[in-house]
Amino acid sequence: MIRVEHLKKNFGQLEVLRDVNANIAKGEVISIIGPSGTGKSTFLRCLNLLDQPSGGEIFIENENILNKKANVAKIRQKMGMVFQHFYLFDHLTVLQNVTIGPMKLRDKSKVEAAERGMELLKMVGLAEKADAYPRNLSGGQKQRVAIARCLSMDPRIILFDEPTSALDPTMVSEVLGVIRSLAKQGMTMVIVTHEMSFARDVSTRIFYMDEGVIYEEGTPEQLFDNPQREKTRIFINRIRNLEYRINSPDYDLYALNSEIEAFCQKHFFSPKMQHNILLLTEECLQVVPLTGGLDYLLTYSEKSSQVSLRLILPASTGMIFGADKEPDTISLAIINGLTESLTESVVDDSLIIEMILKK
Ligand code: ADP
Ligand code: MG
Repeated sequence: MIRVEHLKKNFGQLEVLRDVNANIAKGEVISIIGPSGTGKSTFLRCLNLLDQPSGGEIFIENENILNKKANVAKIRQKMGMVFQHFYLFDHLTVLQNVTIGPMKLRDKSKVEAAERGMELLKMVGLAEKADAYPRNLSGGQKQRVAIARCLSMDPRIILFDEPTSALDPTMVSEVLGVIRSLAKQGMTMVIVTHEMSFARDVSTRIFYMDEGVIYEEGTPEQLFDNPQREKTRIFINRIRNLEYRINSPDYDLYALNSEIEAFCQKHFFSPKMQHNILLLTEECLQVVPLTGGLDYLLTYSEKSSQVSLRLILPASTGMIFGADKEPDTISLAIINGLTESLTESVVDDSLIIEMILKK
């Protein structure tokens, strides 16, 4: 469906894409992940010619789209694109937003376009909003209209550029749900996303982009559980972990809590799990002395779906749960109730307390 060979893109001196090579088959769902600024958006924009590549070749259904004779308008119509921001027409109703493309660009009659438009709105769960205006919709609803609008042009491929990153966290899953149903229907899609658990369960393959190339690619299992190259490993580890430095007893509890909440939402933890992590954090920080500072490290392993919390303190603190000190019994009871295991060990200069939360 898509074949990319030695694709290059410079912006002046800046070499963003150095040598991108990819083959994407019909019905595949590819998620592109990677640090920001590594050319993920530029890659999508080159695929549908919103950016003119500096070199290389792109074939869409075996047609060389960089060929001077290629019909750019026609090629673009094969590819729908959904952006982070929705760019709906504010002065048109939801249904009109979905019918204007087919009517203006595809010569569809109003009746025909409206019929198909309603079908698509139904599919994205917004048939009831057909006559509403975009200003009356939530961000998640607007993005679903944008997806319906994209589908109204009957694309063969859909490119998504961070479709959920401008949304309030509570609206992310309604949009991902729609994308997931498109995947089930066999739509070929390329999705730039930071939603790792979503990428993991919807994708046939993951591309990790860095250094101007597809630095590593593989099935979700290969890439998330067993990345082979250094930078992929670092990236994957960073999204799995929440690291927080606490320097003194006057640390900012609210900032820590909101990072924990964001982490939980990113990984689609249940409200109960989120509650338990917050409670465990609070109780632990009551029990352990904070005067020497500590590193707080929350880790989620998708493989075992286990959440663990590690606290790293100076070894001079002395054992807390072991023999040395008598922690507050109520806190201790809560901590025991929330965890499957708790180990305490001294390694070099550090006291490491590791807890695995009950599921
Ligand atoms: P990503 O989507 O991975 O965050 P982008 O593709 O948006 O990365 O950008 C890659 C690099 O290219 C960035 O350094 C960005 O500043 C630069 N860039 C993107 N678009 C342009 C442009 N139109 N002009 C100049 N530089 C650009
Ligand atoms: Mg981008």
